[in-house]
Amino acid sequence: MGYTPMIKQYLQIKAEYKDSFLFFRLGDFYEMFFDDAKKAAEELEITLTSRDGGMDERIPMCGVPHHSAENYIRSLIEKGYKVAICEQVEDPKTAKGVVKREVVQLITPGTVMEGKMLEDKENNYLAALHVMDEQTYGFAYTDMSTGDTSVMRIESSWSAVLSEIYNRPIKEIVVDETIDTDLKNDLTDKMQLTLSTVSEHIQLPHEMTPLLADVEDVLLQHVCKQLFQYVYHTQKRSIDHLKKAQVIELKKYMTLDMYSKRNLEITHSMMRNEKFGSLLWVIDRTVTAMGSRKLKKWLERPLLSRHHIEKRLDMVTGFYDQFMERESIRESLRSIYDLERLSGRVSFGNVNARDLLQLQNSLSKIPLIKQLLKEFNQQSLQDMADKLDPLEGLKKLLENSIKEDPPISITEGNILKDGYNEKLDEYRHISRNGKDWIAALERKEKETTNIKSLKIGYNKVFGYFIEVTRANLHLVPDARYERKQTLTNAERFITDELKEKESLILEADEKSVDLEYQLFLIIRDKVKEYIPALQKLADLVSEVDVLQSFATVSEENNYVRPTFANNHQVKLEQSRHPVIEKVMKDESFVPNDIQLDEDKFMLLITGPNMSGKSTYMRQLALTIVMAQVGCFVPAKKAELAIFDQIFTRIGAADDLVSGQSTFMVEMLEANHAIHHATDKSLILLDEIGRGTSTYDGMALAQSIMEYIHDQIKAKTLFSTHYHELTSLEERLQGLKNIHVRAEEINGDVIFLHQIHQGAADESYGIHVAQLAGLPSDLIERANQILTQLETKNVGNYEAKQQLEPANQAEQMTLFVEEERSLTKQPKEEENLIAMINKCDVLEMTPMDAMNKLYELQKKVRGMKGRK
Ligand code: ADP
Ligand code: MG
Repeated sequence: MGYTPMIKQYLQIKAEYKDSFLFFRLGDFYEMFFDDAKKAAEELEITLTSRDGGMDERIPMCGVPHHSAENYIRSLIEKGYKVAICEQVEDPKTAKGVVKREVVQLITPGTVMEGKMLEDKENNYLAALHVMDEQTYGFAYTDMSTGDTSVMRIESSWSAVLSEIYNRPIKEIVVDETIDTDLKNDLTDKMQLTLSTVSEHIQLPHEMTPLLADVEDVLLQHVCKQLFQYVYHTQKRSIDHLKKAQVIELKKYMTLDMYSKRNLEITHSMMRNEKFGSLLWVIDRTVTAMGSRKLKKWLERPLLSRHHIEKRLDMVTGFYDQFMERESIRESLRSIYDLERLSGRVSFGNVNARDLLQLQNSLSKIPLIKQLLKEFNQQSLQDMADKLDPLEGLKKLLENSIKEDPPISITEGNILKDGYNEKLDEYRHISRNGKDWIAALERKEKETTNIKSLKIGYNKVFGYFIEVTRANLHLVPDARYERKQTLTNAERFITDELKEKESLILEADEKSVDLEYQLFLIIRDKVKEYIPALQKLADLVSEVDVLQSFATVSEENNYVRPTFANNHQVKLEQSRHPVIEKVMKDESFVPNDIQLDEDKFMLLITGPNMSGKSTYMRQLALTIVMAQVGCFVPAKKAELAIFDQIFTRIGAADDLVSGQSTFMVEMLEANHAIHHATDKSLILLDEIGRGTSTYDGMALAQSIMEYIHDQIKAKTLFSTHYHELTSLEERLQGLKNIHVRAEEINGDVIFLHQIHQGAADESYGIHVAQLAGLPSDLIERANQILTQLETKNVGNYEAKQQLEPANQAEQMTLFVEEERSLTKQPKEEENLIAMINKCDVLEMTPMDAMNKLYELQKKVRGMKGRK
């Protein structure tokens, strides 16, 4: 027998959309069958039924009503699934055999364009990745709702790719089929992305090739094609608003790797993973959704060019200095609609008259904003004003056409203004006149028949009618009145005269609705031509918004404009932590100075827990990020250097979020910093070495500091609870000790959070205990033990320290020798070496590492056994 023709059709289409739910249109429902149905029933909590499909066994089935499908689709997309919408593409009434069906759109997490699936203030990215080799990657991403596409070459490591992904809301990634499984797993498991594949042989549709106009690099072209081809594959319709792919040169921006971005809580707080408590939370005073999205983009990539930073700072200064004008700008920005996303929707053909009205209102605010910008003394703001194009032509078009209060629907008329189109006016005239005429007729009929309750009504099925209540039926003039419909207590009639007018009115109404729809489509197409101009306007408006936001927070929080010296030095007077000072409500934040220069470029910070070490370190990093995105900074005076990268490692015990409080992770991250930092970088190492036994940790901490000091010369802040390390100041020229201490005020232990020069008091722990009121016998005993420990162990530690360099060198040569001789070893050992070589230590979790080691050990033992 075999499946019924419809099920065959289903299976055929489904074969092309294996990794998606296929929403198969059947009358008023989207149905799913087989495994799709089982999975959907579970995910959407809808009833699983079954139907006969021509075979013995019934086919699992479930469905959702067509008109409420959006919520179901959204729920699947949010879970990371894809949904293929398959519609009937011919009229079932005239179809011969099975109605023809086609997939009209593939909705995926990275390609949603509209409605409830998009967050106003968030971008929604689709990315593409092409792996050339272990160090070289082509990476691109696009926000389909705004049309922005960026593409870049990443030339360092896989973790740099992961950082790029981590840095922005990417939902889905397109890779080619051949991608390595390990990388694939990272993308799906670590980064939680929906994975989509395209074949290696990419054919970009002709009309999309202009999008690649600015991309010269072959690798980047390839990855863009991958991206755009997938876009085409999912949308199956015009995508006019996509802008040309923009090549991002990573070396023009500060690198903030994944760890730093998380540790510094730039856009999300670590504890709760939300905006509250992050830097973004403090500095986001944008008033438009576009502005908010732009601010996030700026935070993703702080600038390196002093010229560009100063330019932004100039404009912020302008806004800062003129409060009244700034407030007026904020006020006018409030009524500006999301022009960026609107462009996308125009191009997709799903704007209605209300959207266009909002567009018109937004455009009408632009001249005012222009004028206000002109009122600023700052030249760069006046230049900005010149660049703003209020798109008069578009505004006129909308003003003349769209009515004040149009309906949501675009097919029921009532959208366009009188006077916009002659033909339309004519139809409306007939219709309106006809309606007046009917009102007159009603009056006339009342008089002639003497039926006071007589009325003329209208409904869609019967058209116009004269209604007479049962009680008055005897007064009806039988000759003229023709019976049309009988109700329980009334009869409805029609007359020749009314019939004639009715057809005129209805015809005019119908024609005018049709015409309005056609005219609306034409208007929409005209708006489409303005998309590039609208996008440019959106870009400028959102920039104004971000800059005014910087000025607003800078004024409210007493920030100061940073200056940049030519030598690489930092001199902050009374610097504060932008977030903590906001979170602390009653007490006030204690400002501290921070100074780093070419002579003293490392600070070793000691002090008890909770004294403010971490805060001090982070406030420097946040200050630098703020300055390099163009915002003022929380300090009384700020002289800064431009930093190419920031690395942070917060000691394991402090790392609450990842739960991976292991020493391994700590070392991996330190390793990452050491490999990539330059003398223009900032490294924050906060209590590194905590995750292991004292001597290990101390030894590593020391050698890391020495290495940075001698080899890298990066500006470094290093906090530690190993007091012994403070003696390093004597040997390392570039290192300086500073400390925070606890003090006693009226018998209470108080942290004054003040940074002092020099090392902390050695026994500060015991001191704190004493302040806390522990029994004096106990304190005395602790002091005794401390002295013992110092004379014994620390002495040993220092003795060991002397030996270390020699030892290290020895080990190194040993290892090299061994490696050389091993290359001549039999096959098994070669395999073993290959296995070790293949490990990407940077990417391994501690558990992976343990497992790998266990596996290797098993292999080695096996080999020994046989020998
Ligand atoms: P540590 O790293 O030394 O253990 P933290 O930097 O984590 O200490 O600071 C602990 C707490 O002390 C912070 O959460 C904050 O509430 C407060 N604090 C830190 N620095 C300051 C400061 N400069 N002014 C006021 N309060 C501060
Ligand atoms: Mg700390």
